[in-house]
Amino acid sequence: MKLQSIRGMNDLLPEQSATWQYLERTVAEVLGRYSYREIRFPILEQTELFKRAVGEVTDIVEKEMYSFEDRNGDSLSLRPEGTAGCVRACTENGLLHNQTQRLWYTGPMFRHERPQKGRLRQFHQIGVEAFGLNGPDIDSELLLLTARLWKTLKIDHAVTLQINSLGTSADRAQYRAALVEYLSARKDSLDEDSQRRLLSNPMRILDSKNQDTQALLNDAPKLADFIDQESRDHFQQLCAVLDAAKISYEINPRLVRGLDYYSKTVFEWVTTSLGAQGTVCAGGRYDGLVEQLGGKPCPGVGFAMGVERLVLLLDELAVVPDSIGQNVDLYIVAVGNIELEALVLADDLRSQCPTIRIESHCGGGSFKSQIKRADKSGAAVALILGEDEVGSATAGVKFLREEKPQQTVAQIDLANLLTNYFTD
Ligand code: ATP
Ligand code: MG
Repeated sequence: MKLQSIRGMNDLLPEQSATWQYLERTVAEVLGRYSYREIRFPILEQTELFKRAVGEVTDIVEKEMYSFEDRNGDSLSLRPEGTAGCVRACTENGLLHNQTQRLWYTGPMFRHERPQKGRLRQFHQIGVEAFGLNGPDIDSELLLLTARLWKTLKIDHAVTLQINSLGTSADRAQYRAALVEYLSARKDSLDEDSQRRLLSNPMRILDSKNQDTQALLNDAPKLADFIDQESRDHFQQLCAVLDAAKISYEINPRLVRGLDYYSKTVFEWVTTSLGAQGTVCAGGRYDGLVEQLGGKPCPGVGFAMGVERLVLLLDELAVVPDSIGQNVDLYIVAVGNIELEALVLADDLRSQCPTIRIESHCGGGSFKSQIKRADKSGAAVALILGEDEVGSATAGVKFLREEKPQQTVAQIDLANLLTNYFTD
């Protein structure tokens, strides 16, 4: 049997890792500017946690979780999303007791879906959660933060914000009943998936991609008519901040989100540049979740970004700075029986010039083949060492990316010369 990776679980090759690091670094920097701190929690949790948090009748829990019994017979699941584990970790460690928290996390999530572009079975999210804050101010802050992030990444022209309010869970229960009544009377015109959802999770029907179902929904009861005054005010204040900050948005009354735990604000950042998997960031308010998981009541609001989709978008729009894929500044060419001297000189230079990234040629070979490697490495400068140079404590300095004659430099002057060259 040939050993292969699991379908929908990709390797991240060095070619792409620089873009991932650039994205992760940029997100972490922006989050830091808003005073969010990182939290880490396990990839495996009790299956029960996700059943209770995400909801028994959601696609995720019904058919997408990687669940198994461990050696003790406990049912465990690979996390399909981060909020549940984050809430569990915060509650268990007393982080939500009489205090507010602004947190973020990153890592792999697992869902047994049909793999396609932008949809994987192991994918990565960067999640952000704020706890202990009731008002629309924190919802707004999260949206300001994401808007700044898109700007920093230079993808702001390619994403649009959709928002909606789901009201309270009591509002939703009433709305659900009205929707079910309306749709039940027209059941035969619904697509198959929606017929099934009519019983299990009727609000998800609003999400249906089926044209006939969407047409049927045009005259269906509207969620907006069912939500209470407080939720309306909350939503209006959120919109007012977005208006004042000049962040454009679209109110999408059919935006309901796939997970059970949301209330009031929900939102998605969507792009048309990636085909069908266009949502790059999604979230909302989940005021009932902490209590639902056994903690003291504590409001929460958050979102998750899909890292793979953002990387696809960065590539698609060609906005990753050229310097990002570049990992070598200086290449040390060592010709002849001087490997020892070359390695020691390279390491001295690393001590003296900590910001210069140096690749030492290993494995010998002719001058010509080594210079070829130097060129391929992307380095701007090659340091050339042969027996003559070692004998006279000098080195050849060859500029690989500009028309400039090669220089012979005393080894004691190298650190100075290179530092000046690379800091200009
Ligand atoms: P979708 O509607 O695309 O299935 P979702 O509502 O299931 O998304 P969430 O659970 O809200 O997604 O997760 C937040 C983000 O994580 C999504 O907007 C998307 O960018 C990313 N994401 C979700 N599922 C996957 C997946 N299977 N592969 C890659 N990215 C994903
Ligand atoms: Mg999904």
